[in-house]
Amino acid sequence: MADKSYLAWPFFDDSHRNLADNLEAWCAANESLFLDSHRLPVDEACRQIVHTLGSAGWLKYVVPKTYGGIHERLDVRSLCLIRESLAQHSGLVEFCFALQGLGVGPITLFGSDALKQKILPNIAAGKSIGAFAISEKEAGSDLNAMTTSARRVGDQYLIDGEKTWISNAGIADHYVVFCRMADEKERRFISLAVDAGNPGLSIPERIEVMAPHPLGTIRLRDCAVTADSVVGEVSKGMSVALGTLDIFRTTVGAAALGFSRRALDEALAHSTERTAFGQPLSALQITQAKIADMATAIDASALLVYRAAWLRDTGAQRINREAGMAKLHATESAQWIVDNAVQLLGAKGVVAGATVERLYREVRALRIYEGASEIQKLIIAGQVLSGTKQGHN
Ligand SMILES: Cc1cc2nc3c(=O)[nH]c(=O)nc-3n(C[C@H](O)[C@H](O)[C@H](O)COP(=O)(O)OP(=O)(O)OC[C@H]3O[C@@H](n4cnc5c(N)ncnc54)[C@H](O)[C@@H]3O)c2cc1C
Repeated sequence: MADKSYLAWPFFDDSHRNLADNLEAWCAANESLFLDSHRLPVDEACRQIVHTLGSAGWLKYVVPKTYGGIHERLDVRSLCLIRESLAQHSGLVEFCFALQGLGVGPITLFGSDALKQKILPNIAAGKSIGAFAISEKEAGSDLNAMTTSARRVGDQYLIDGEKTWISNAGIADHYVVFCRMADEKERRFISLAVDAGNPGLSIPERIEVMAPHPLGTIRLRDCAVTADSVVGEVSKGMSVALGTLDIFRTTVGAAALGFSRRALDEALAHSTERTAFGQPLSALQITQAKIADMATAIDASALLVYRAAWLRDTGAQRINREAGMAKLHATESAQWIVDNAVQLLGAKGVVAGATVERLYREVRALRIYEGASEIQKLIIAGQVLSGTKQGHN
């Protein structure tokens, strides 16, 4: 299995090393979950995965201790280690874990105690599913183009608009919806928690993508929520979104790292077994050069991911430069590493259902969601040039 020597790096303490060992043992004992995740219809698979991850206690890492979690506050290194490990087995299992965190991330980080009490314990137990809804048809990278609005009427907000590309649309129990404030001249942002059963919320379409992923559009029509559904401060919705993405972008890098490690494992196994021109592929120097480049890119990604996670865990409030670098490097190099693994396997690499073929499809979206690579470059450059970029997804 993948190299674990990085766990000796100073970013980690013994609790992280124990977590990585326990999770690896659990993954080995629960291979059927990963196989089912590749076989079952996506909604059924996701519900089963969330239930299993909750029963096993892994979802305790996505909420704070007071609300059924493990740590006093989110431990980003733990989130990264878990995403990295799960991604080595199944993109869908990894996704389900991640969305339990991201879906309620704004509530965990910025929500009122009452909202946390209402929503987080069931998320940690795997009894409910969350979703993070910011993107719109005309507002992906450019969040300032958002049109979904919330207007205050008495002690309620009425939400109108449509969000698309929303992970867990259709299976979520709760959505955190980002809106513009209709009553304000500046039309600043507000984030609101909406229950899936709200009569003003519907799912007009589901969207199928290249790797299994529950995705769809949510429609909000005079969707009434009480004023205590506001997540964070009124008119600070953009800070809520970006503060949440700081953490979860780092963990997207960790997921990419998991895909990369699995791809390298597959490439190593094949290149030592497969003979060409009278010797194993691994004895050919061009193969060795590829393996060296893959291993170096993996270590560079790991350094960037765990630097960002360590910084956040040790007190940094905003890590958008470091999170941007971690996501950018880890996802871009994962795409390249997986492609190289496919190449090393030759025809076997493109057989439907082959591990590297699955990785090839699973890794692609990571360069797009939670801020595409180009947007990460804008964020990093903005910071390097000493500006601060706000308003990019
Ligand atoms: C599988 C999947 C799951 C998703 N899950 C969620 C979810 O749970 N919740 C949610 O809210 N959204 C989700 N999204 C949406 C995702 O966040 C957006 O797709 C993403 O922000 C990009 O927006 P867009 O697709 O509209 O592309 P666009 O913003 O139209 O961008 C198209 C291309 O142009 C580039 N580009 C844009 N602006 C610039 C610029 N200034 N300079 C240079 N290049 C630029 C982009 O990088 C990209 O390559 C998901 C998307 C996918 C694919």
